Amino acid sequence: MIITMKLGATEADIRYVLKRAQSLGLKPHLSEQGGQKVIGLLGDLHGLDSDSLRALRGVDKVQRSTRPFRLASRDFRSEGSVIQVRGCPVGGNLLAVMAGPCSVETRDQLLTTALAVRDAGGRMLRGGAFKPRSSPYSWQGLAEEGLRILADAREATGLAIVTEVMSPEQVPLVSRYADVLQIGARNMQNYALLNAVGETRMPVLLKRSMMSTVEELLLCAEYILSNGNPNVILCERGIRTFETYTRNTLDINAVPLLKELTHLPVVVDPSHATGKSSLVRAVSRAAIAAGADGLLIEVHPDPENAWSDGFQSITPREFGQLMEEIRVIGTAVGRTV
Ligand code: PEP
Ligand code: MN
Repeated sequence: MIITMKLGATEADIRYVLKRAQSLGLKPHLSEQGGQKVIGLLGDLHGLDSDSLRALRGVDKVQRSTRPFRLASRDFRSEGSVIQVRGCPVGGNLLAVMAGPCSVETRDQLLTTALAVRDAGGRMLRGGAFKPRSSPYSWQGLAEEGLRILADAREATGLAIVTEVMSPEQVPLVSRYADVLQIGARNMQNYALLNAVGETRMPVLLKRSMMSTVEELLLCAEYILSNGNPNVILCERGIRTFETYTRNTLDINAVPLLKELTHLPVVVDPSHATGKSSLVRAVSRAAIAAGADGLLIEVHPDPENAWSDGFQSITPREFGQLMEEIRVIGTAVGRTV
């Protein structure tokens, strides 16, 4: 249920509506849109009488939201949200390109990559310090040492840092170093983790699980939003299908579909979506043409010797070419890099 207050509604009118919602056992969520206060009602809405709310002083309209995800829905907020990451907007006219290695390996590796990403026009540096590996015997990341290297690379280049957090206990530590908390595909439905990042005000990059629907992704975003953190960026990174030549199948439909269903920004990860470095450039172009707000790309100075995901990492030189192509496609669809 969404209550839009009249332009002239007083503070007292708003307070009264909030109190009324609480007395009905609901959690009201107050925000503003186009100068009007909007109150989203969270909780069990069965049997709620919307006419009694419509009659309250200062109320302009009361709408039932048609979707199970409420705060994430376009019904709740018709304008696209723009998430600020260290002065870099995600979701506006500018395309946000986040690039870097799958994992932070060494100081040299990360700094070389970071400088190349910055020089080519990337805005954020990605790199995993805590790695969710399919096998417990695979390398698991540098942990806090990796976070320190990421922070040093930010210092050297000015790029914002995107890095993964895997458990609620890690949230305070990773937040001390990161600018964006990445929730990986395997953790998309880790509700304790969603609640924990929801309690911060850190930008969160929420990756779609390889086996979830768009609605499940949006309900996971709803966990973060309903805990009070509005800074959610969604990421389509490919889903599992019967195809085996590629690691995953990019659900390109999800891009314009998400833009219809939600006000949250949407970025695409062509690296995990394809699992093949030779496909990353073409799929990046497709994502931007389809309306993505940005890209998350794995770049490595020596992909053959990368400690993880080398087969899908592109070189700094290829990344430079990709950025040139993205500029052209972006201009064609009214976006700038
Ligand atoms: C990653 O970004 O390196 C990663 C592990 O991605 P995903 O969670 O999408 O598999
Ligand atoms: Mn990876």
